[in-house]
Amino acid sequence: MKKGLLIVLSGPSGVGKGTVRKKVFKDESLNLAYSISMTTRQPRNMEQDGVDYFFVSQDKFKEMIKENKLLEYTYFVGNYYGTPLEYVEKLRNEGKNVFLEIEVEGAKQVMERCKNDDVVSIFLIPPSLEELERRIRGRKSEPDNIIQERLAKAQKEINLSSNYQYVVKNDKLADATKRISQIIKKRMEMQKDI
Ligand code: 5GP
Repeated sequence: MKKGLLIVLSGPSGVGKGTVRKKVFKDESLNLAYSISMTTRQPRNMEQDGVDYFFVSQDKFKEMIKENKLLEYTYFVGNYYGTPLEYVEKLRNEGKNVFLEIEVEGAKQVMERCKNDDVVSIFLIPPSLEELERRIRGRKSEPDNIIQERLAKAQKEINLSSNYQYVVKNDKLADATKRISQIIKKRMEMQKDI
């Protein structure tokens, strides 16, 4: 059995990574597993612990860093976010293609740390910054200063999209989903040829 791919999806907050991911996961032939991140942020309305994130205290998060138990981590707009390493490795060793939905700093760490590994890096861009602002405001879950911070961060993140192997525009959900599925399929085929 081949070790699974490590698929990294980044893109500014509000671009629709989660929605695209959920659609991509419907295709069972892609053999995907989602890497549930750890965060110190408070859960939003419908979010569930152990499903959307592992919601932890700062102390717990710092302990994970100290014990080298994170594949990558970052501090993003007031909170820590990171990928538990053991879970990712376990799934990949079972042949699953593990999907990480993370921001640019963490993605950079993964690309450096797993240089010789089967990493598929994808950056999802919004049709425009105006549309992104409309989507973030539509979430109605954060105060204006946080929204402004997220938007400023979005511009910086978009500037780093060239570090990724693939850039996909999320204009129409169906098109973005199809493109990402195609990318994963292609990389799975390439993997078989090794
Ligand atoms: P949100 O608060 O909107 O759920 O997430 C904020 C940003 O952190 C998003 O861009 C999201 O993809 C990213 N993120 C979520 N989990 C992780 C993680 O484990 N590591 C890193 N580096 N970023 C993450």
